[in-house]
Amino acid sequence: MAHFDVVVCGLGAMGTAAAHHLARRGKRVLGIERYFPGHDRGSSHGRTRIIRLGYFEHPSYVPLLRHAYGLWRELERAAGRELLHVTGIAEIGPPDGALVKGTLSSARLHDLPHEVIAAPELMRRLPAFRVPSDYVAVLQPGGGMLEAEGVVAAQLALATAAGAHIRNGEQVRAVEPRAGYVRIVTDRGNVDAGAAIITVGPWLPSLLPAFGVPLRVTPTDAQLFSPGSIPVFIIESRHGMHYGIPPRGDLQAGIKIAKHHHRNETVDPNAYDRTVSADDEALIRAALAEHIPGANGRLVAAKTCLYTMTPDGDFLIDWLPGASNVIVASPCSGHGFKFAPVIGEILADLTTTGATPHDIARFSRRRFG
Ligand SMILES: Cc1cc2nc3c(=O)[nH]c(=O)nc-3n(C[C@H](O)[C@H](O)[C@H](O)COP(=O)(O)OP(=O)(O)OC[C@H]3O[C@@H](n4cnc5c(N)ncnc54)[C@H](O)[C@@H]3O)c2cc1C
Repeated sequence: MAHFDVVVCGLGAMGTAAAHHLARRGKRVLGIERYFPGHDRGSSHGRTRIIRLGYFEHPSYVPLLRHAYGLWRELERAAGRELLHVTGIAEIGPPDGALVKGTLSSARLHDLPHEVIAAPELMRRLPAFRVPSDYVAVLQPGGGMLEAEGVVAAQLALATAAGAHIRNGEQVRAVEPRAGYVRIVTDRGNVDAGAAIITVGPWLPSLLPAFGVPLRVTPTDAQLFSPGSIPVFIIESRHGMHYGIPPRGDLQAGIKIAKHHHRNETVDPNAYDRTVSADDEALIRAALAEHIPGANGRLVAAKTCLYTMTPDGDFLIDWLPGASNVIVASPCSGHGFKFAPVIGEILADLTTTGATPHDIARFSRRRFG
């Protein structure tokens, strides 16, 4: 008989969320992580992540986000510390651009609090920004930031406290569905369980090539500039889409800015150059110089992180083909962190009951044929 109900492979934001939700339901859970807590090789490291409700990517994410906000507050209560800071967010760009159009369509469809202001009003209220006169800003009071590394640590600690077994420094080498159970082959031996959750982030294509979705791993670097006065923001301009998070006490010493999708290059997560080059910095400074000159200060720090991209930018959550006990989740494409607790709940639902009340039809692998 399998010793564990569920084995969670990979303990980033998604794997720790799943382990937490399973353990608190009383399931026998084993979490296996190749590196050690706090490592910076995947997608979940760094101090902060943006959260927002009126979702430019697609309105169908909004119900999941609404649920996630409740789960973030639950997580904070259980962890006994603040992890979500609601500060408001400004989403800025041309009125017919993907960012403004998409945000407004989500906000209107779901009746979310928001305000639209024209460029002159934006520059009066938020003087950090310099934008062309035809730009607009959508201000959403519900946006803000999450303490990323704090979240992963809290989920891991709560999972462990609820009885989950955690093994760090162990690499999953194969996932073998068998009749009635699944065998996880690692560099230390085999583990059998009733079900498995595969949340290995950028290593998904190499661990499960037979999953059949053409995922692409692309590096993005977040850079910290000397403090200035700025809100949480996303700006779409001729330089691409940049996002930023202001300094906050001990949490973050400078303004964090990154370019969404960076240069869109494809890398091997095991072998790529993690140094942030002068060209990488220039990619950010071009947008800062034109649109947020006050943030174009001294570079304080820079860190590379990986996006795992689906071809359409939507998440991927589905069963391994031919296996009803192995669920694969890649809720990334550069925007997954804010959903972590609801993804954890969905993965726990699927491995314990075979279904979830959340609408995840959009995340099916079958959309790629
Ligand atoms: C720079 C950057 C900024 C971002 N900003 C935002 C934002 O503002 N808002 C937002 O919502 N989202 C944001 N995201 C996206 C978000 O961070 C990711 O969607 C999320 O962190 C993905 O988590 P994950 O658990 O799927 O992957 P990961 O964090 O990569 O976790 C996968 C884990 O699996 C482990 N692993 C891999 N292979 C094996 C193996 N064979 N055996 C055992 N363990 C293994 C890895 O070591 C890793 O710990 C950003 C991402 C980046 C890179």
